[in-house]
Amino acid sequence: MEIILAKSAGYCFGVNQAVEMVEEALLKNEEAIYTLGPLIHNRQVTDELDRRGAHIISDVEGIKNGIIAVRSHGVGEDIMSAIKDGGNRLIDATCPYVKKIHKRVNEYHKKGYQIFIIGDADHPEVIGINGWCNYEGIILGNKNSVPRTAKYDKICVVAQTTMNLGVFHEISQEILRIYPEAVILNTICNATKTRQEETAALAAKADCMVVIGGLHSSNTVKLAEISRAHCKKTLHIETAAELDLNDIKTCDIIGITAGASTPHWIIKEVINKMTKSFEEMLKDSEMEASYEESFRKLGRGSVVAGTV
Ligand code: SF4
Repeated sequence: MEIILAKSAGYCFGVNQAVEMVEEALLKNEEAIYTLGPLIHNRQVTDELDRRGAHIISDVEGIKNGIIAVRSHGVGEDIMSAIKDGGNRLIDATCPYVKKIHKRVNEYHKKGYQIFIIGDADHPEVIGINGWCNYEGIILGNKNSVPRTAKYDKICVVAQTTMNLGVFHEISQEILRIYPEAVILNTICNATKTRQEETAALAAKADCMVVIGGLHSSNTVKLAEISRAHCKKTLHIETAAELDLNDIKTCDIIGITAGASTPHWIIKEVINKMTKSFEEMLKDSEMEASYEESFRKLGRGSVVAGTV
């Protein structure tokens, strides 16, 4: 049996930065910190932060003179103003790549462009981006949602950073077919692209794929979709406790990837659970040889785990 961990599995730059900023603030401040929405889409991490004093709030109303952290997804211009107007201290953990989208959307909106946002209308990052064009953007989830009748002189198109590249191209082509002058800005984050490409390549050669990350994390759900397209046996789990070893015991090659909000300690726990079960298999077979030798005798390949 071979276990292959995707190099890009786990926290992306933006999520890492957000967690570090809030952890640093927790160490420096005695007062509670409020995060506007869950800091990341990982319940295990947000529960731990809550225990340490970083509590989730759903809006800034009524919060005065406190410390408010804006997560990597970012928020609209109006929310940023409301935080400051309330006399609150701001921890702005908006990912720099998302900030760049805010800036471009705001510039094009001021120049009179109609903004199209390719993404999931309910996703906080998309709602935040829309908040930089006065919530007048049109959200496009698929090519059929591209407006066909309305006439826009100038259109600027951006994408949610975690958008599937294939879907982005499909919708962009449809926009250009109807509005050839549209300005298309590919704002999909490279971290997402790399993770998606690695997942597809790994899934194509694996008998089973284990995708680790929040069941409500948009980027993890997309990874699971991509994986499933190449490997039918794709298991999407949040933690090691959800991994049923019976599901993987007959697989020769197991691929592992994880969403951008999945901490490395959860990935390690999943790998440990798998490798422990191999150890037990070895004990049961009363073999004393090394892993390599034992697996060879069991008629399996070697265990390979990449860097965690
Ligand atoms: Fe930033 Fe990319 Fe991570 Fe989104 S996926 S938070 S854009 S690094």
